Amino acid sequence: MTEEKVKIKCTKCSQVFRERAQKVRNGFQTNCQHCNRLITFDSASEDKNIRRALTSAKEIRMTLDARPKTESAMAGSAGDRSQV
Ligand SMILES: [Zn+2]
Repeated sequence: MTEEKVKIKCTKCSQVFRERAQKVRNGFQTNCQHCNRLITFDSASEDKNIRRALTSAKEIRMTLDARPKTESAMAGSAGDRSQV
């Protein structure tokens, strides 16, 4: 199962919390769950923790998007030999 949440390290209190990858994108704001600091996600941020979280969230979203809707269609038949 794919983990849909991205770890975010708060630069102020150095604690880690998690937020849904679907929400973590440029312009998203959330409060640190430990110290309540407002964190703004900006890909141009000087905070490497924020940039890392944005990158992780993007990768997770891409993985979720790439996941086939019908997994049974992919599994099983290795190689398509049913060409007309
Ligand atoms: Zn914090």
